[in-house]
Amino acid sequence: MKKYRFALLVFVVFCFGSCMKSEKADLVVFNANIFTMDESKTKAEAMAIRDGKIIEVGPDRQILNKYAYDASMDAMGKEIYPGFIDAHGHLMSYAELLLGVDLVGCTSQKEMVRRVQDYQVKSNKSVLVGMGWDQSLWTNKEFPDNALLNAAFPDTPVCLYRIDGHSALLNDAFIEVLGDFEVPNGGAAIQNNSGRYTGLFVDAALQLLEGFIPKFSNAEMKAKLVEVQDELLAYGVTSVHEAGVDANQRDLLIEMVDENSLSLNVYAMLSPSDKNKKFAKKNGIYRNKNLLIRSFKAYVDGALGSRGALLKEPYHDHPNYKGLSLSSAEELASLRDFCLSVDYQLNCHGIGDAAVSRILGMCKEAFNRKADHRFRVEHAQLVDLAEFRLFTDYAVFPSVQPTHATTDQRWAASKIGQERLEGAYAYKSLLNSFGMIALGTDFPVEYTNPFYTIHSAVHRKTPKDYPEKGFLKDEALTMEETLKGMTIWAAFAAFQENELGSLEQGKDATFVILDRPLNKTATFIENYAWRTFIAGEIVHTLE
Ligand SMILES: [Zn+2]
Repeated sequence: MKKYRFALLVFVVFCFGSCMKSEKADLVVFNANIFTMDESKTKAEAMAIRDGKIIEVGPDRQILNKYAYDASMDAMGKEIYPGFIDAHGHLMSYAELLLGVDLVGCTSQKEMVRRVQDYQVKSNKSVLVGMGWDQSLWTNKEFPDNALLNAAFPDTPVCLYRIDGHSALLNDAFIEVLGDFEVPNGGAAIQNNSGRYTGLFVDAALQLLEGFIPKFSNAEMKAKLVEVQDELLAYGVTSVHEAGVDANQRDLLIEMVDENSLSLNVYAMLSPSDKNKKFAKKNGIYRNKNLLIRSFKAYVDGALGSRGALLKEPYHDHPNYKGLSLSSAEELASLRDFCLSVDYQLNCHGIGDAAVSRILGMCKEAFNRKADHRFRVEHAQLVDLAEFRLFTDYAVFPSVQPTHATTDQRWAASKIGQERLEGAYAYKSLLNSFGMIALGTDFPVEYTNPFYTIHSAVHRKTPKDYPEKGFLKDEALTMEETLKGMTIWAAFAAFQENELGSLEQGKDATFVILDRPLNKTATFIENYAWRTFIAGEIVHTLE
């Protein structure tokens, strides 16, 4: 009897603790330092989650007393932020880079060739493809020619993309495969003084390689994309704006989402091919679980590091040369009209001031026809000082990559001269003009690490804390602006501000619990996600 009475008491106590709780949650996260990133900068300690959505954020006692829950997580006082959004990255190129010869960080041409040789010993390919070299890291900072590559690979075609993907070094065996060719407008195949091809193909000339670059199988790509995803989740990056996919890559993403092998939120921009246009016409705004497709990506110029950026005045180190035009004003206008007709956004790669100017001009009409078009300039690395205001006038969203500023500071002045630096990597000016800014990395051109982005944006320094006083420091963003650029503003740049970007009632329970508090000092400190959640599911645990 005594035993029975005890059991009854336990039941009553249990009932008091749970039956009195008025609402049900799947998960409660408590004992946290939550930065909700909402309008009123609310801080909270606990969060209740049901069906993948946030049902309430508030103080520990309020949430723990109110909800009966299936699971709970003690965040041990750690900081929680909305999952980071990389507003410009290349999942596909990164997977390809990892499947081919990885040339990132090569410190000489010799090392580059050796890495290709090492790869070939293991893979024995009939055509070799690599990516990631950057001649600005070499002692001789000139663009390479293919002499060393020809000596090592006289018969096997080799194509090595520069880190920015805007140029490639081909050996003679590859050039031979191309047969007779004519370089398309907006491209260059560099020749030396005696008229011999050096092997360097730039921008539109890379179109000549299509059909000769072997494709990796879907199975290889999927496996590698899962690895890339794991890397991103380990940093708390839960969304990527994939900056340009062809029709095959688009279908690969759809397949992965259908198979539930991709948990990352992907906002995929389509390259403007006929197949992709057909897709947009047929589907309109395409939503499939964590994949959203409602934008096109166009290239208006190349990259500054390959002298492909389109400038208003000639390059400082190349008089009479202003870079490459990849889309004319007419082509942009026609793509704009198409995008508006299918209710898609248009995101234009524009690096040089002439390219940015052309995009802004195109956006004028977009604004007249649809004020909330959210068309974006991707990169906006050099803007004519007189044209910053056009970002406001035509409501053009700036989408930039802070690590480009700190990587390019080594050579930016040599390309555009000291004077033009005033409108270069001018993130604060762009923010002041438009009122929001979206931040990304452009991986694999830069690393996926969002803490590098924060350090570059706030302190304008590399992870090695160079330069000591920061590069063009006047254009630094505050920590709060930077975090918004990686969360709520980036969500806005993809029409996802109602689901993502802040931790508020009704939004996705997509967030990162950081291992260490965000670094408040000007000295770089490594950080990782302790736990990462997407729509209420745990997708990463720090080992
Ligand atoms: Zn890019």
